[in-house]
Amino acid sequence: MGDSAEFQCPWCGQTGTVVVDTNIPFQRFITDCEVCCRPIEIRAESADGEILSLDAQPG
Ligand SMILES: [Zn+2]
Repeated sequence: MGDSAEFQCPWCGQTGTVVVDTNIPFQRFITDCEVCCRPIEIRAESADGEILSLDAQPG
């Protein structure tokens, strides 16, 4: 099961969307910004099928 969440690119400030697997309590992955193509490290915390927090850092 996944849930989509919005994040702000730490490089260019554009808003992007990622799909987070809410069965995983803590996860960290790298995604590329669709606008500036730079790597962004996403850290997501989930519980009970919901995203509790999402953090986007330069990857
Ligand atoms: Zn960007």
